[in-house]
Amino acid sequence: MKYAKKHLGQNFLKSKRAVDAMIDAVAVLPGETVLEIGPGRGALTGPILETGARVVAIEKDPEMIHLLEEKFSTEIAGGQLVIIEGDVLQDSLSDHGLVHQEYSVIANIPYYITGAIIRMLLESDSHPRAISLLVQKEVAERITGRETKKQKESILSLSVKAYGTAQYVMSVGAKSFSPPPKVDSAIIAIRDISKEQFVQSGVSENQFFSLVKQGFAQKRKTLLNNLKQAGYDTEPIKAFLSEQNLDSRIRAEDLQIDHWFWLAKHLGK
Ligand code: SAM
Repeated sequence: MKYAKKHLGQNFLKSKRAVDAMIDAVAVLPGETVLEIGPGRGALTGPILETGARVVAIEKDPEMIHLLEEKFSTEIAGGQLVIIEGDVLQDSLSDHGLVHQEYSVIANIPYYITGAIIRMLLESDSHPRAISLLVQKEVAERITGRETKKQKESILSLSVKAYGTAQYVMSVGAKSFSPPPKVDSAIIAIRDISKEQFVQSGVSENQFFSLVKQGFAQKRKTLLNNLKQAGYDTEPIKAFLSEQNLDSRIRAEDLQIDHWFWLAKHLGK
C-alpha cells in the first residue's frame, strides 16, 4: 500500500455508508455523466461506475492515476471511465465534455481547496446539475446553517446561496478515513444550481462578490465601516438597514443573501 500524501490532502474514504450517501445525495441517473474530483484509489469511483453512470475523474497525483488505470482498465477500455491527470482548479470543465446542467459532481476533496472548488463549480458557465461533497464538518455547518438558531454567513455560504440550495446530508467521523484527518467531516449536497438570482436582480457576479468581499474585509468591523473604508457612500446603506429594522452596527456575517443582492444593486461608489 502506498503512503498517503499529506500535501495533496489524501485521506481515503473507507466507510461504505458514506460512499452510498454521497452517491444518493445527487441521485445519479444511469447514463448520466459524473465528474469526480480527486478519485484517489477509487473508493468512490467503483460504486459510481456501478450505478451505470459515465465518470470523468480528475486526479493530480500521477501515482494514483497509475493505480486507477490498472484497477479500472475494463471501464476505461469501454469508455465508461475517463481519467484525466491534472489540477481541477486549472482545468476548464467544458474541455471534458461536461455539458451545462447535464452532469453532477461527487468529490471527497482536499479540505484546503474546498472554497476554491465550490466557487469554481458554481461560477462556471457549464455548471453541474447537483454537487455532493465531503467537507470539514465545521464548514458544512457554516454553509448549511445547521444547529444554529440564527445562521452566521461567510463568503462561502453566501456564494452557495447565490447559486443554489445546500443540504447537510450526514456527519462522517474522522475514523471513516485512512489516515484519519484531524477534524470530523460531513457530506453536503448542493442542488437547484442556477444563475437566476443574478439575472432577476440585474446584478453581475462581479458586482455581487466584490461587494461581499469588501463587506467581510475585516471580520470584527461593522458592515458600514468596512464598506466606508472601501469607498462606498454610507447614507443609502444606513437608510436600507433602518428600513429593514437592522442594527446600524450589524456585521457582514449577520446579513442575509437578499440584503446583499439589494445592496449590490443599489450601491454605487
Ligand atoms: N476520492 C478518494 C477517496 O474518497 O478515498 C480520495 C480522496 S482524498 C481526500 C483527495 C484526492 O484529491 C487525492 O487523491 C488527491 O491526490 C487529489 N487531489 C488533491 N489536489 C487535487 C487537485 N488540485 N486536483 C485534482 N485532484 C486533487
